[in-house]
Amino acid sequence: MNNIIEFFKKLPKRKCRKCGHEIREKADCYVSLCDDCDHPAR
Ligand SMILES: [Zn+2]
Repeated sequence: MNNIIEFFKKLPKRKCRKCGHEIREKADCYVSLCDDCDHPAR
């Protein structure tokens, strides 16, 4: 059971490619832009 938690703990934090802001975990994990930079209006 603990293996799963350890696995996620070891995952590197994602940072936005544009602004370098830390990206919060999302359901879909292949985003390299933060919410602001990834906003369709920008
Ligand atoms: Zn950003």
